[in-house]
Amino acid sequence: MSDGTLDILVGGAWRPGNGARYATTFPADGSSNAELHAADAADVDDAVEAADRAWRATGWRDPMPHDRARVLYRIADLIRDRHEELAQLQMRDNGKPITETRALVASAANTFQFMGAACETMEEEITPPRGDYVTMSTWEPMGVVAAITPWNSPIASEAQKLAPALAAGNAVIVKPAEVTPLLALELGRICEQAGVPSGIVSVLPGKGSVVGDALVRHPKVRKVSFTGGTATGKSIAAIAAEKMMPVTLELGGKSPTVVFDDTDLDHAVNGVLFGIFSSSGESCIAGSRLFVQSDIADAFIERLVSKTESLRIGDPRDEVTQMGPLISHAHQGVVEGYVRMGVDEGGQVLAGGARPEGGVFEAGPYYRPTIIGGLANDARMCQEEIFGPVLAVLRFDDEEDLLAQANDSVFGLAAGLWTQDYKRAWRVARRLDTGTVWINTYKQFSITTPFTARKASGIGRDKGRMAIREYMNQKSLYWGLNDAPIPWAG
Ligand code: NAP
Repeated sequence: MSDGTLDILVGGAWRPGNGARYATTFPADGSSNAELHAADAADVDDAVEAADRAWRATGWRDPMPHDRARVLYRIADLIRDRHEELAQLQMRDNGKPITETRALVASAANTFQFMGAACETMEEEITPPRGDYVTMSTWEPMGVVAAITPWNSPIASEAQKLAPALAAGNAVIVKPAEVTPLLALELGRICEQAGVPSGIVSVLPGKGSVVGDALVRHPKVRKVSFTGGTATGKSIAAIAAEKMMPVTLELGGKSPTVVFDDTDLDHAVNGVLFGIFSSSGESCIAGSRLFVQSDIADAFIERLVSKTESLRIGDPRDEVTQMGPLISHAHQGVVEGYVRMGVDEGGQVLAGGARPEGGVFEAGPYYRPTIIGGLANDARMCQEEIFGPVLAVLRFDDEEDLLAQANDSVFGLAAGLWTQDYKRAWRVARRLDTGTVWINTYKQFSITTPFTARKASGIGRDKGRMAIREYMNQKSLYWGLNDAPIPWAG
């Protein structure tokens, strides 16, 4: 700690960043969490050079996966030892309800454990011989990797990048969202305590346009793993193309949830509400477009609206709160703008459509769970990601109609299906142009199962054993077996 501010982790040293001093605040009431000096481009250079040196010198890159795994298991244990403290910190960092942040911290620990296990059990291949030689396919770490994360689920997003990148033997520079730096800094400390060599992990909070941009452009950064908005992802991809640098991009979504007329309506109502309104809709996979089969639409929407009115929105510290504040007043304004746009486009507000008033709601950027009906799928409100608690309700007649509408989106992240007919679920799931389809459930995640995206929702994968390969270069080895010289040279 220097001048009362929080230090950041630059190339093995805890010190203030070179950038401007700023405060991180608790979204529920605007109170200060901490002050820190942001990183700047010089800090990026220091961190990357130190990471490159540490990576070459410390043996982290050497092929000792079981030793690296031991360190990842220790990271998992240290996160578990501090579970409640980290959950409270995550709640203050971005205002998510405490019940959700506990689950995020638990998932981060599980991610390190799983990637440790994956790291020590990954196999390499001896490929089929095609000549007088043995051929092998091997994998090597890339070097210095940048992990750039958004504010909506910091510890989970950061773990999903740090764990596989470290497991693969890389050095990692984490650039958390400027407004939510606290969990990344704690992960930096935990990595050190667990035995990750000094300099291998740096944590550089600061502006994306400064720190993120400098990281992406740095010649010694060999890979960027980015989670965030599609516009930012595209700009990173353009720079990466110039450098011929691989990227993993986990971007935005406008995910369809589909309710067929044969479904258990109560289950579907609960699933749809959870899919859109948990995390106050600030979720890339939020089921923000609901398609209901026409013959049950009125009855289903009535139940949905009625249950929406009973959702508990409130202080994220309260154990019974289902929806906390949005991340900021600026974002609240964006959400309000989309609701106005939906109404201007001819939509009707069926639930919500306003800020809640009185009590705790005066102190933070809350927004009521909102349902808009009467729009067509090509309305802007149905095409653009809102990243807030706003659900567009649409109708469909049959499978073809549904697929045409649901796939008519620039995004391709996720989808949900509610039906009792497993053959229909199979048919439709296979034709939805998304990386994930939930059937009779929604927003469930398993670290064992790859998370991928299509179209403007991204490139590459998180989760699953093969996520480690996102942070590795493949190399082929040919072992000649012929004792005679190669005949060509005579
Ligand atoms: P964002 O504005 O794109 O920011 C994401 C991160 O990128 C932040 O750390 C940001 O820094 C940084 N950044 C901004 N401009 C940059 C640049 N020019 N170069 C490098 N880095 C830059 O997104 P957000 O508003 O934080 O997050 C919401 C978005 O994330 C939504 O679109 C959501 O769907 C998406 N998301 C996707 C997934 C997924 O897995 N597909 C998961 C979660 C969220 P600052 O902090 O300074 O802005």
